[in-house]
Amino acid sequence: MHWHSRLVQPQTLATSGFQSLATPTYRGSTVLFNKQADIVDDWNQAENGYSYGLYGTPTTLELSGRIAQLEGALHSFVVPGGQAAIALVYFAMCRAGSHALVPHNAYGPNKEMAQGLLKDLGIDVEPYDPLIGAGISDLIRDNTSLIWVESPGSVTMEIQDVPAICAAAHGKGVMVALDNTYAAGVLFDAFAHGVDISMQALTKYVGGHSDLLLGTVSVNTEVLKAKVGVTFKQLGLAVSPDDCNLALRGLQTLGIRLTHLEKSTLEVAQWLSEQKGVAQVFHPAFPSCPGHELWKRDFTGSSSVFSFLFTEEFSASQVEAFIDTLSMFKIGMSWGGVTSLALVYPNIERPGKDYAGRLVRLNIGLEHTQELIQDLERAIKTVS
Ligand SMILES: *Cc1c(COP(=O)(O)O)cnc(C)c1O
Repeated sequence: MHWHSRLVQPQTLATSGFQSLATPTYRGSTVLFNKQADIVDDWNQAENGYSYGLYGTPTTLELSGRIAQLEGALHSFVVPGGQAAIALVYFAMCRAGSHALVPHNAYGPNKEMAQGLLKDLGIDVEPYDPLIGAGISDLIRDNTSLIWVESPGSVTMEIQDVPAICAAAHGKGVMVALDNTYAAGVLFDAFAHGVDISMQALTKYVGGHSDLLLGTVSVNTEVLKAKVGVTFKQLGLAVSPDDCNLALRGLQTLGIRLTHLEKSTLEVAQWLSEQKGVAQVFHPAFPSCPGHELWKRDFTGSSSVFSFLFTEEFSASQVEAFIDTLSMFKIGMSWGGVTSLALVYPNIERPGKDYAGRLVRLNIGLEHTQELIQDLERAIKTVS
């Protein structure tokens, strides 16, 4: 062979038989077939063989299988991020003329898509009170095709009565999708509580180190698998096998990280609840969190993200100064990594509530717990 050809079509020179604990990163767009008649174009590679890298390489399928196992799902679709997972659910379940229900404390960009792109496409997404429980029944219309639940909800952390909502929805033939990111897909058993579709941002706890963006959509029936699968294929939601490899590595320490984060976060939340400048702690394991009893009934633990409200003695600018004064806590979005983060939500909108820039959300990382508390104590003192 000419050396030009040999560069492109080399012999394999490395010895085979390498045994390692790490999952290999398989990169690839083109998939080779042995003969013309073997060519397929099928997203369902786990069952029907590899066809195209867009639908995943063996690294992606390994991650998909492990998430499905962990969540007790029939199949998990791995997509580029949590928001892509939310989009995949909407596009699989809704059509022009559809009505969907989303709790008013849902992840912000979910509501942004609802009021933006989905509205423009003729899909009517209505916000509802997350604490409505079985009362959701009254909001279901003939054209309702999807109900979202997110428990605890973003920032204000309300725990929903997911089994009651699922029972009401199923009574009227409506599917329920859960954003299970808070629970990392493990602290709340979505399918055992009646949920039809469970999504999570692997970006948070599975990735666990603030260096990757991935999401999953998990389903438990062949019908939903086919419905989501067809949509997944058409949307072209490709993920990087390198990111999947990082997520596979993250899974190995997920158990120990969640255990430690729960303990450390409870200590910080407890300390905050005892401070006279703090009006309310929104942590699912605390009775001050709306829906706490449901958390006790349905969850096997809590994780690292929670919020607290300063008393009215603090102005919005003092709360902002508090955030800026923190040093161990960094200022940034997202959560579930090893670094503690703090953020104020100045414009958070909840019907009938005005937090007036006094609501702070924390993500507890893996730093020493007492040092985190000292950081909070110093910052509160400085701005008081
Ligand atoms: C972060 C987050 C998402 C979106 O995940 P990305 O990977 O950042 O797109 C969705 N839902 C919840 C509850 C989240 O916290």
